[in-house]
Amino acid sequence: MSGQVWAHVGQPFVSTHYDLLIVGAGRMGAALARFLRETAPHLSLLLAEEGGLPNEEGASILAAGVWHTRVPQEQRQRAEDTRTLLGEALNACGLLELRPGPGIAGPGIAEVGPGFSPVSEFWIPGLEGVVDPQALPFARLDTRAGTYSAGTLALKCANAAITAGADLMLNVRAELCGLDSAGRAQVRLHRLSVTNTHEVVVDSSVNVTAGRVVVAAGAAGPHLAEVGLGAVTPHRSAYRQTPRLEVPSTPASPVLQSGGLLLRPRDGGYTVIPPAAHPDPWGYVPTGGRLVGVPVGLRRETLNAVLEVMDGLPALATEALVPGRSIADIPGAWVALPGGGWPLWEQLDAAHWLLLGGERADLTGLSVARELAEELVKAEAPSV
Ligand code: ADP
Repeated sequence: MSGQVWAHVGQPFVSTHYDLLIVGAGRMGAALARFLRETAPHLSLLLAEEGGLPNEEGASILAAGVWHTRVPQEQRQRAEDTRTLLGEALNACGLLELRPGPGIAGPGIAEVGPGFSPVSEFWIPGLEGVVDPQALPFARLDTRAGTYSAGTLALKCANAAITAGADLMLNVRAELCGLDSAGRAQVRLHRLSVTNTHEVVVDSSVNVTAGRVVVAAGAAGPHLAEVGLGAVTPHRSAYRQTPRLEVPSTPASPVLQSGGLLLRPRDGGYTVIPPAAHPDPWGYVPTGGRLVGVPVGLRRETLNAVLEVMDGLPALATEALVPGRSIADIPGAWVALPGGGWPLWEQLDAAHWLLLGGERADLTGLSVARELAEELVKAEAPSV
C-alpha cells in the first residue's frame, strides 16, 4: 500500500514514531528510501524534505548526471553497480536516459587534453566550434559513458519508495535533537509555509522519534550533524555554479571533459560543469566576480576553473559563455565535499547516520545508498 504524503501545513500531521527517518529527499535520500522499502518493507519510514521534489535548490537537480569509467580501482565495483542500478531505476518506466555511447559519433564522453594517448582518426563531428584540435590533439572516447538527469532519478526513487509504503513530508525542515532515554533519535520537524511577501516561515513544529535517522541533507548534512548532535566531521561544502555555453549541440553530441571541467550537451547548447574543488565556509553568501572590471555572475573560482582549460576549448573564451550580471543569473547549488572526495556513509552515534553524495554521486552514489540500506537493516532498531 502507498505511503502518505504531506505537502503543505494545511494537512494535519500527528506526532508519531518511525523505525526509520531520512532527512533530505535529494537523490541520495530518495535512493536510500527506495532501497529500504525493497529490503525492509516491514520497517516504517518517513522521508522529510525541506523543499519540493526534487528541491529546485538542491544539488541533485543541477548535478552533471554523467557516468564514466575513469574511476580509481577501489571505486570501480561501486561505479559498475551504480551503472546497473541507474539503468534499472531509469529504464523501468520506459525512460532511457542513460545513454551508452555506441561509437565515435554518438553520445559518450570524450576526454580531451594533451596528456592522453592519441586515438587514431579522432574527430567528433559537430565539435568544431568547441574544441581546438591544434591545442588538444589527443582524445579518448569513453563509449561506456552515459548521461542522465539526476533530478529525474531523485523523483523516480522517491515515487518508488512512496508506492512501496514510505511516507513523505515536503516543506519541512528537520532539526536533530539527539537521543531520548530509550536510545531513540528525537527529531523536530518545522513545517514551512510562505507569506504573501514570499518569505519562508515556520508555521508549526512537531516532534517525532525514530529508531534510526539518516541525514541525507546534501551540503547541509555535516552542519546539521554538528549543530544537532555535536558530531564534528571532516566534510565540507561548496557553492558550485554551472554556467551555460551557447554553442550548438545535438542529442548525439558527446560530453567533453578537459582537466576537471565537463561540458555537457543540454537543450541545444552546453552546460559548463567546473569541479567544486574549493570548500566554502558555512554561512558564505555567494557573490559574483569581475571580468575585465565588469561585474559578472560567475564567481572568481568558477572563472579560474574555466580559464585553466580555455586554450583547448576556445569557445569558453568567446561570448558564447554566458557570464551573467549577478549571481542570480547563473544556475548554482551547494554541493557536499565528502572527506576523501567520494560518496560515503558513516555512523554518527547509536541512532544517527550521515549519507553524503557530493559531485561524484553520479558515479557511485546509488551503490553507496544501497550499502547503507543493507547496513541499516542489519543493525536492529531499538525496541519501542
Ligand atoms: P544529494 O545529492 O546528497 O541528495 P541534494 O542537495 O540534492 O544532495 O539533496 C539534499 C536535500 O536535503 C535537499 O533537497 C534539501 O532541501 C534537503 N535538506 C537540507 N537540509 C534539510 C533539513 N534540515 N530538513 C529537511 N530537508 C533538508
